[in-house]
Amino acid sequence: MPVAAPPTTKVPNFIDGRWVESRASEWLDVTNPATGETIAQTPLSSAAEVASAVDAAAAAYPEWRRTPPEDRIQPLFRLKQLLEDHIDELGRIITRENGKTFAEGKAELRRAIENVEVACGIPMMMQGYNLEDVARGIDEFMIRQPLGVVAAITPFNFPGMIPFWFLPYAVACGNTFILKPSERVPLTMRRAFELLEQTGLPKGVVNLVNGGKDVVNALLDHPKVRAISFVGSTPVARHVYARSGANGKRAQCQGGAKNHVIVLPDADMAMATQIISDSAFGCAGQRCLAVSVAVTVGEAQKTFRDAITEAAANLRVGIGLDDGVQMGPVITPKSKSRVESLIATGAKQGAKVLLDGRSAKIPKYEAGNFVKPTILDNLPATSELADTEIFGPVLSLIHADGMDEALAFLERSPYGNQASLFTSSGAAARRFRYEAPAGNIGINIGVAAPMAYFPFSGWKDSFFGIMHGQGRDAVEFYTEKKVVVERWAKEHSRKF
Ligand code: NAD
Repeated sequence: MPVAAPPTTKVPNFIDGRWVESRASEWLDVTNPATGETIAQTPLSSAAEVASAVDAAAAAYPEWRRTPPEDRIQPLFRLKQLLEDHIDELGRIITRENGKTFAEGKAELRRAIENVEVACGIPMMMQGYNLEDVARGIDEFMIRQPLGVVAAITPFNFPGMIPFWFLPYAVACGNTFILKPSERVPLTMRRAFELLEQTGLPKGVVNLVNGGKDVVNALLDHPKVRAISFVGSTPVARHVYARSGANGKRAQCQGGAKNHVIVLPDADMAMATQIISDSAFGCAGQRCLAVSVAVTVGEAQKTFRDAITEAAANLRVGIGLDDGVQMGPVITPKSKSRVESLIATGAKQGAKVLLDGRSAKIPKYEAGNFVKPTILDNLPATSELADTEIFGPVLSLIHADGMDEALAFLERSPYGNQASLFTSSGAAARRFRYEAPAGNIGINIGVAAPMAYFPFSGWKDSFFGIMHGQGRDAVEFYTEKKVVVERWAKEHSRKF
């Protein structure tokens, strides 16, 4: 619930190269999910504050777009080094506000840095193409130009990585940028923007506005914002895509997920167990690429079930800064009770709770939002829960007689973010790669997160748009194509 903020911990906005305190009348508590302690307050900034960020970004744009790409990437090289130098500090901030382990926080920062590195290739990546003599004496060129002011809206689960799926590409392409991070985890980007301040980026090129849905809607409605990048839950992704479209903006909106892994009996069961356990329970299951349903085929039903239950039961759950802790809490008390009630729904809908992580108590951290690893066996494939994103450390097991039936389960899922297969058969792997209805495919991989130079794909209700984040798609998204057809009369050249 919104509360009045004590003055010392208010998270500021960064607009036109300056840190400014929001004039918001409502502030939200930011709490450490492992301790329940209040660590800051996020302002629910207003449409007027969004407008001042847009004005700053619009004012910075003409000079920034004229800055040669080679010069535009120099601050990004400095940013890469600053992120490297501060990776431990940022990792600790992520653990404190999000709850994931320190190792997980640092791992997401590594992916953030990779995106900065890839965007440094813009002088090559942004090139167009041309052809002489499209007709006699006429040449044609395709050149890419930046759009103007662009914005990104990001979720709570990767406070350090997801903003960098967008920011480096947007500014390297010559756009100016506004970020609205999740109001639940504003501190990582607060620190990252202090680092951005040291890179030499001109004022107004990157801006940070904290808040909730009013900030989002103000960005979607502002006529000077040309493009929106969104990552979050499917209902909000749908809203952002529709409203951006109605306002004539281009949008890329990544939504929720319910990821399946198929385990064939010929899989290396020890490897599959380890990797699937990391995927399902890493980041407390709060990853859009977390495996949520394991479909076992044939005798894998028993071998995998026994092995994964043992692996999950042995995971060490606790506060993410403690050595040896493998899994932290979920983000809020509300999220904990939602996950626990979905476990009860699974049992009601016919699953057997093989491992029950409800009512977890971690000594010294009783106020934390902990749910321990949970396994639901034999969840009916047609149950509502089989299609519901849980976003917590819960793995459901479903059995199939063969690949046809297993693939049919994936086909009926409303989501298509990721699908994985564990097997030692090349032919099965090829069939899976060919037929699986998802945008990110893993073969003997638990979290098929594309590297920064590939698009972060996603199909069905997991993505709305055409061009994805990262890599060449990012360049395509953040630039407009201009085609030039040129003729110069011969007589003119003869004069010289
Ligand atoms: P969320 O949808 O609640 O919030 C995402 C962003 O939207 C936040 O910045 C939030 O302030 C804003 N927002 C929330 N409600 C809004 C509304 N009614 N109108 C306008 N804006 C609104 O998501 P979350 O809980 O922060 O993140 C978890 C979700 O994100 C999960 O569903 C997860 O699968 C998804 N996710 C997807 C990907 C992907 O790549 N597909 C990656 C990470 C997370």
